[in-house]
Amino acid sequence: MTRINGFIGRRNFFKLAGTSGLAIAATTVGGSLITSKPKTAIADVSPANLHSVNPNQALKLLLAGNQRFMQQKRQYPHQSLARLQLVAKAQYPFAAILGCADSRVPAEIIFDQGLGDLFVVRVAGNVASDIAIGSLEYTTAVLGTQLIVVLGHKNCGAVVAAMKNQPLPGRIGYVVEGIKPALTGLNSTDAVIANVQYQVDKLQKTSTILGQLMQAGKLNIIGACYDIDTGKVIMIT
Ligand SMILES: [Zn+2]
Repeated sequence: MTRINGFIGRRNFFKLAGTSGLAIAATTVGGSLITSKPKTAIADVSPANLHSVNPNQALKLLLAGNQRFMQQKRQYPHQSLARLQLVAKAQYPFAAILGCADSRVPAEIIFDQGLGDLFVVRVAGNVASDIAIGSLEYTTAVLGTQLIVVLGHKNCGAVVAAMKNQPLPGRIGYVVEGIKPALTGLNSTDAVIANVQYQVDKLQKTSTILGQLMQAGKLNIIGACYDIDTGKVIMIT
């Protein structure tokens, strides 16, 4: 399988995509992200992933890392020069995180992971926008990631702004528009969780690629909430 810095060639991507419908749906992802004419053949330095991590294993790794973080026992794994040089050749992130851009919720720190471990998409309110979904389709269908965690957090300013339902300057309104549908009739305590569940549902139901990977047993999408007071991540779906 031809890989270019962790990217699979277009032909192989469509093979991975499986059905023609899925391949058509994936055209934009393939066209914009995948180099069709590699300058060098790197099959020799980029072996196929022999250690793919299934969704349950991936979740255990994340929760174990979060435990280490909470207990101030971080191992800072996979941050050596050797690791940097290894993942420069190819990346196989074992989990993807759709998290909030909030400065207090950095995925690699709170899950105690390193280079090449996590494919992280961060945007205010962990909103599953088209671009976020496209990024997650890429890491699951092309890089082989089998777990997506939508990670909300306590005291999320984007969720609070969406609840206030007031005019916002510039393009901040785009963020809250992606959250509002989740919040109908809710109090603030439940809003963060409702938003996570809404974004999980959106990923599962609006992406053909993610949906087919789930049906094939090659992907799980779950929701979680991070407590910015304690550092603890709790599964909510
Ligand atoms: Zn937030």
